[in-house]
Amino acid sequence: MNILPCPWCGSSETRWEGEASWGFLLTCDSCYASGPARDSKEQAIRAWNEGPSFNISERLKAHADQCEAEAKELEEKAKRIRARAAEASEGDGNA
Ligand SMILES: [Zn+2]
Repeated sequence: MNILPCPWCGSSETRWEGEASWGFLLTCDSCYASGPARDSKEQAIRAWNEGPSFNISERLKAHADQCEAEAKELEEKAKRIRARAAEASEGDGNA
């Protein structure tokens, strides 16, 4: 099984940290992030490859969706304010 680049920084400089007695654990040499400890190397690689990167990309997408929704709301608010300003300037003309 291939070891994918670090899910946090994208570096491919990973190494094994700790073996046998307390489990296998991958560590990034670039940002020092470490994956979850597992009983076998294969399980540790799977956890490193799939777990964190999936969660992070899902979280980032959700955050982007939220930002877009907020931006749309602010745009509509700005339109309402401009419409109100247009009404007010007509009023100014009549006064
Ligand atoms: Zn890293």
